[in-house]
Amino acid sequence: MRPLHEADAFTGKIFIESCIQEFLWSCQTIKIKMIQLYSRNYIRFDQGISRTFYSSGMSQGFQNSANQRGFSATQIAFQPDVQPRRKHPGQPRAQCQRGSLIGKLRACGKTFIIGAMSEIEHPFHPVNDTGAQAAALADAIRRWASELGFSALAIGESTLSPHAGEGLRRWLAAGCHADMDYMTRNVFARLHPAKLLPNVSRVISVRMSYWPDAAPAAEVLENGALAYVSRYALGRDYHKVVRSRLQKLAERITRVVPASTRVFTDSAPVFETEFAQCSGLGWRGKHTLLVARDTGSKPSSGSCFFIGEIFIDLPLPVDAPVSSHCGRCTACLDACPTGAIIAPYRLDARRCISYLTIEHPGSIPEPLRPLLGNRIYGCDDCQIVCPWNRRCPRSVEKDFTVRNGLDCATLVSLFAWDEAEFLQRTAGSPIRRIGHERWLRNIAVAIGNAPRSPEHLAALHARAGDASDLVREHVHWALGRQSV
Ligand code: SF4
Repeated sequence: MRPLHEADAFTGKIFIESCIQEFLWSCQTIKIKMIQLYSRNYIRFDQGISRTFYSSGMSQGFQNSANQRGFSATQIAFQPDVQPRRKHPGQPRAQCQRGSLIGKLRACGKTFIIGAMSEIEHPFHPVNDTGAQAAALADAIRRWASELGFSALAIGESTLSPHAGEGLRRWLAAGCHADMDYMTRNVFARLHPAKLLPNVSRVISVRMSYWPDAAPAAEVLENGALAYVSRYALGRDYHKVVRSRLQKLAERITRVVPASTRVFTDSAPVFETEFAQCSGLGWRGKHTLLVARDTGSKPSSGSCFFIGEIFIDLPLPVDAPVSSHCGRCTACLDACPTGAIIAPYRLDARRCISYLTIEHPGSIPEPLRPLLGNRIYGCDDCQIVCPWNRRCPRSVEKDFTVRNGLDCATLVSLFAWDEAEFLQRTAGSPIRRIGHERWLRNIAVAIGNAPRSPEHLAALHARAGDASDLVREHVHWALGRQSV
């Protein structure tokens, strides 16, 4: 790059060609490399920048861009400085929410040169890509994902094998989806991601670990007076957390290369586990969840993570699938309390506790109620016994920290929540979406399975006249068990 003292017009050309806008959005501070080449300082660097931005209307462009990206509080202003100011050279020219656009410019040198203008040296252009550029972009995406808290990222094709479609159709035909009828309506979209993003060519899959520091799962499951809540649901709703991080990642990508993207996490008809498996993010365990075996400096094996996807229309290099490491193990099939894993890789939702306590809207089938134990929201049993979860990392995400002591609360205390308290305590939690009625239904079943005690009987009697038919029916069932 030539020195900036030559002309304002030339300065502007440099800035525009160098993608200064993308660069500024990526940085909090610009570091300036100063090289003393000339004996005279004809034009000050900060003066050149401010004049250029001012005369080219770029400040308005920055402001528009800031507003579009949701930085509503951002104020960007440029002051033209028509005279060199040798005495106070380090004055900032622009401020934004993320820090100083132009930080301290120390005028200890004679000529000022910007040492780096872009985060990656060769922004990826699909038309003239050499392969190396695409690989560099893929590496950058992986790095950004790590910075955003994702434990791993893998890139896969956007087409699925016919085998995936056949398996899904067989599963639906057998009725294993229970009353999740939406699954039958969106099979085509599930198998053809172009329905969700035209021209999609890659699916970027990510993982985010969620297992929080919480009361030991096995101890809570053994204590029938306590409520067991699936460990993924003890903190903030993962839909919000993962989706917002994915959106940030997608925006970071489109800052350096033009692309269309859409982000998903359990929020649309996306065959998530299948895409994740094809990209090598892990393998599908016999319990049907994705399992990973990471090595290296930060091993994070297991299956206790959320997955999410970015659909993108760039031909990024794809990662290779990994082989299955289930071997002869059948621990998850053997451990399922209701026998919902009817065969390896085949889950019958009609028997699955996660389905029965979360998705299922009506009465829980009586033969299954005793098998639920004290599980009032979801179930982790198939994951707890999986040998790959012995090294399951604890999540460092504050959002997944346990809220309201839900990791080891008593059934009686949770059963006492009225609707207002339920809504208040589950604000921002995935539990909220099941509503107060299903919450009471599930706890009534758990109290019916709990050791007989005056406290349990009293709690059930207090709800015996509940306004909800559903709740009353489950309470009466539980009273029958507690009164024997
Ligand atoms: S418990 Fe065993 S069979 Fe099930 S997913 Fe884990 S390794 Fe595979």
